[in-house]
Amino acid sequence: MAAELKILCGNGAAALERNAGKAAQFLGVPFSCNSPAGNGAGGGRPEHLAGQKSVVVASWTALKERTGSRKDIVDFLGGVKALLVYGWEESAVSNEFLAELTEGAVRRAKANAQPAHRICVAAGSGDICQQWAGLEFEVDSGAGGVEFELTGTKPDRRILISRDGEPFFVQLSVAGTQLLLLGCEEIADLAAPVSRGCSPLKQFERLAPLMMFLRRCFGDRCWQAPEMRGSFIIDDPLLRRRYGRLDYEKLLESMERQRYAACVAFIPWNYRRTDPRTAALFAAHPDRYSICVHGCDHTAREFCGTDEQRLGDLTRKALWRMDQHERLSGVGFAPVMVFPQGLFSTRAMQVLGQSRFLAAINSSPYPVDLAEKSLTLEDFLAPAFTAFSSVPLFTRRYPKNVAECVLDLFVGKPLLLVEHHGYFREGFGAVESFIAKINALAPGLQWTDLGTICSRACLQKRGENDELRIRFYTDRFLVTNPSMRRQSYVLCRGVLAGERSISATVNGRRVDVLFDGGQLEIPLTLEPSESAQIVLERRRVEVQWGGGQQGPLDRTKVFLRRSMCEFRDNVLDKSPLASRAAHRALGWLRGSK
Ligand SMILES: [Zn+2]
Repeated sequence: MAAELKILCGNGAAALERNAGKAAQFLGVPFSCNSPAGNGAGGGRPEHLAGQKSVVVASWTALKERTGSRKDIVDFLGGVKALLVYGWEESAVSNEFLAELTEGAVRRAKANAQPAHRICVAAGSGDICQQWAGLEFEVDSGAGGVEFELTGTKPDRRILISRDGEPFFVQLSVAGTQLLLLGCEEIADLAAPVSRGCSPLKQFERLAPLMMFLRRCFGDRCWQAPEMRGSFIIDDPLLRRRYGRLDYEKLLESMERQRYAACVAFIPWNYRRTDPRTAALFAAHPDRYSICVHGCDHTAREFCGTDEQRLGDLTRKALWRMDQHERLSGVGFAPVMVFPQGLFSTRAMQVLGQSRFLAAINSSPYPVDLAEKSLTLEDFLAPAFTAFSSVPLFTRRYPKNVAECVLDLFVGKPLLLVEHHGYFREGFGAVESFIAKINALAPGLQWTDLGTICSRACLQKRGENDELRIRFYTDRFLVTNPSMRRQSYVLCRGVLAGERSISATVNGRRVDVLFDGGQLEIPLTLEPSESAQIVLERRRVEVQWGGGQQGPLDRTKVFLRRSMCEFRDNVLDKSPLASRAAHRALGWLRGSK
């Protein structure tokens, strides 16, 4: 039987402990909050955690409340398999307790009030630190807390994470218990709002080590992505031999060298303009090249409106054009929408939910009309944003900060990178060196197309009866049993409030759908290596785009805009002066919309 998680609460159950509980809940680890037996300031009777050995998370003050003397500490540790202690401070009483708890292995804690820190995760710590092992990065976290000054008394201790060159997350063995000391002063609050443009990486010190610890102790009973997938998305280009700085033959060579895959975010307006040789290149290399949908006409703020009729027309027309493009060029597409200019409205997300789009992708998860601080840290750490629509929103990022990408993979998001043709101005050195770093940190990462990525995105955890619970995000989902034994599953997908008219098929056969709170569940059993294709069907009024025309003025504006963009990308890109003139002209076109 698995160990149980206990979170030691200080007197008054401070926010610190509540935050640790939220993190455990987020990972799906059941826990109990353990209040001190006495009200003893600095040493009531030690409370034995009865029965099997527990896994314990505690602030040092909550731990000290239960363990007055060295003997009390030893008694306490007798019932504990693994213990993470955080919240340390630089004070005489904290240092004294620290030395006592670690049998002298730590001399003292040293406060660090710097706003930004250099984090170094030890190479070879992958058993605990997972994808972070071997990574060094700067983080402007504003996190205080301490680093530890170690003595040489326990040679088997491991420094898992250093901060500003000093031990910050340390593992050692004390009286048969795995003890992990964490230098941060608090655990991040998963319910805290995250502003537009703010990165959850700022919470690294306050959250990632605790997640590492819980995953180490509870393994497959924590929510985790069973596989990692990624794609390098290139916005806007036509499928011609060259587009601006992008040469498809050369990019293919680069992808073969560094084993990654690219997806062109294709503007549906260009559906009749694909060069057959480039189409043939895409068709011959489906493991490297794929395309998805990038707006419809790609005009300014195209998917930012609130007019449902207009958004519906754009969505249907985009799909109709992509179908035509597939028919004309032979290049299929993933029904995944990449919003132009990184802008979209909540209504646009709802309208996509009425169509056969599988998912949407954007750099920011904030729709233009959503109030600041409406999304929480927990939202940011889920594989996809699901609150806007029955279509999930995945996020992507520029290939700049490796740590941001590792955070995506660590929490189970697909790794979606984005660039434009200009990124290849100096060749493929930049992309290859970035991808090489990612591939080294996450050797299991599979580079593939967006259809595969979105329709297989999930988190998984083992349940009470050995069943695998899977949280998936799209209305078409593929699950495979990779094991050598028969496995039962419960597939879960969040539903919006009031949504009940959803039916499901598994490999074409209709199955029962159970609704439980805010999610639907589909039980399933798979033989070894067997796969199941799940399709959710919703009552939606799907209207096909009939190929109708825009007014002549609108058509001219779209034509002018696309022509200017292409002129800029293909001709002016080498001349900054001319490029600025083109930007001004585009600005005028935008203003005249
Ligand atoms: Zn674009």
